[in-house]
Amino acid sequence: MGAARNVTGSRHLLNINGKNILLDCGMFQDRINIKADRNWNFGFDPATIDYVILSHAHIDHSGCLPRLVKSGFKGKIFSTPATMDLCIVMLADSARIQESDTKYRNKRRIKQGKELLEPLYTENDAAQTMKFFESVPYRTKFEIEKGISFQFTDCGHIIGSAAIHLELIENKKTTHLTYTGDIGRYHDLILKEPDTFPQADYILCESTYGDRLHDTTEDAAVLLLEAVRHTCIEKKGKLLIPAFSLGRTQEIVYTLDRMRTNGLLPKIPVYVDSPLSTNATEIMRKHPEGFNSDILKYMEIDKDPFGFVGLEFIREAEISKSLNNSTDPCIIISASGMLDAGRIKHHLRNNIEDKKNTILMVGFCAEHTLGRALMNGEKEVKIFGDLFQVNADVIVLQSYSAHADYKEMLRFLECQDKKKLKQIFLVHGEINVQEHWKKTLMAEGFTDIVIPEFQDTIEI
Ligand SMILES: [Zn+2]
Repeated sequence: MGAARNVTGSRHLLNINGKNILLDCGMFQDRINIKADRNWNFGFDPATIDYVILSHAHIDHSGCLPRLVKSGFKGKIFSTPATMDLCIVMLADSARIQESDTKYRNKRRIKQGKELLEPLYTENDAAQTMKFFESVPYRTKFEIEKGISFQFTDCGHIIGSAAIHLELIENKKTTHLTYTGDIGRYHDLILKEPDTFPQADYILCESTYGDRLHDTTEDAAVLLLEAVRHTCIEKKGKLLIPAFSLGRTQEIVYTLDRMRTNGLLPKIPVYVDSPLSTNATEIMRKHPEGFNSDILKYMEIDKDPFGFVGLEFIREAEISKSLNNSTDPCIIISASGMLDAGRIKHHLRNNIEDKKNTILMVGFCAEHTLGRALMNGEKEVKIFGDLFQVNADVIVLQSYSAHADYKEMLRFLECQDKKKLKQIFLVHGEINVQEHWKKTLMAEGFTDIVIPEFQDTIEI
């Protein structure tokens, strides 16, 4: 029902013993699906869904839960404890975006004499949604009802992220079905590596980077330090880092924290300027159960790996604005990562035309976003409708990624006996990438691989 030959709107609907189980309830974020109203119309009746099992808190996996509840869902939503904590802030933030976008569009519609629009959901709807949540820790077999049980295993993508392993008994026949969710990295800076998982008969496998190999994360720290020195010491400018609130922001902060501890980081102020990034960091601090041994060891000498003297988290808009008045060298980490929204756009507008500044791109940017335009080296960009010359340096750091590349995904699947595995369904990927990923899997000895289309029904 989503993320079929596409990377957003993850929703996979299972019917077992007459019960409907939805794996993830993501928001579609690409223009084509938004136009087709797929965030408004699920293609099934939300009231008929008995259970949702959620892989992780990213909006493309969780973002339509408030809409589902608003449309009549009365069942239960299962997630890990960290995913539940994150959903409180992520869904509220998403609701605020829905509400402010609708307000903006309605302003124009009033002038045009058009009917007013409703937001997809409100902050109140997001809060109501949390009442349906029930948390289940990793590696705990949980029986939802007779014949339907599942367990989560850590897949190292973001804090709380899980692969979902269902054990389904229908007509005395047992079927094991795994949904990978988004697969994380081996050697992630903060998170544990993806865990192994029980033998499956069927796997719904993600395919985001099914055609790509990443650089290693060690290079990223060296390049980050170079960018800091070049910008803040040599050019005496500001280093702007657009970063996703959850994951990338904490990776950058932790890298800087280590540099400061090791005496490598010049004494310049560092700001994390985003309320959501600030909240997400607080939640990460509460869930060290997802941390790898490196960061846990580091925490023996530095209790807070996301905080050091000279680092300030900013929630208030007024303080954010005051950063514009200062011309002193500093580092500003702000959302959104793709520069399509958020405070980073204001910082960009104020700093992009000055060549002493640097914009450091550290994450994936979708097509037709401001971030992608900068990554492509465009020399003139539009921000809030005005044209700006790109005089600041733009540096692209490719090695930060929350998604496994194809070699890491193969490693994730290594724990499976290929002879026992009946079929793999590829989801969450662009079709050309999925074709590549399918070929790679076949070459590795996986035999039956299907790339379903939107609303395909498969009987297993
Ligand atoms: Zn994700």
